[in-house]
Amino acid sequence: MRLFTCQELQLVRQATQQAAYLVSCFYCLAPREWTMLRYEVKTQEELTINERLDTVLAQVLCYQYTCKINQKIEYKDLYCICLQDTKILNTFNNIEGDLFNLLLYVLTHELVHVVRFGQQLQRIDLAIEERNKEEEKVEIITETILSKQVNYLTQIPLTKIKSSCLL
Ligand SMILES: [Zn+2]
Repeated sequence: MRLFTCQELQLVRQATQQAAYLVSCFYCLAPREWTMLRYEVKTQEELTINERLDTVLAQVLCYQYTCKINQKIEYKDLYCICLQDTKILNTFNNIEGDLFNLLLYVLTHELVHVVRFGQQLQRIDLAIEERNKEEEKVEIITETILSKQVNYLTQIPLTKIKSSCLL
């Protein structure tokens, strides 16, 4: 099991910022709408046992929490993007390119899920076959977003990564 080094964690932060920028532009979300989508990005060291999944590069989970605003209890969603360091680093070893691009791909994919769940474009509790269709849609959107990045698609062999699976 290998975890991200400090330098790699720095790349995770940069890729998260870049992916958030690209996804919010794609969906034309105002900064206020974006901040209303509550999400956090966690790496393997911070994951609970239930959040770890060694068969995928990452997964997004939704937690509900309550908060009291002016005596009123409100229910809110928190999306947790769980990066699986070991799987990402093992996949990276099998491809050419740079780790930042792989992280950007993974984080863009997961943030597209977050927007689709958060904007109720999709439900989080999908049946298996619907879930596969949703993954295909998210994949197409992710590629569309990243294809606008200069040279991005030539820098990362997506077919090899797709077989590694994202949730
Ligand atoms: Zn997915």
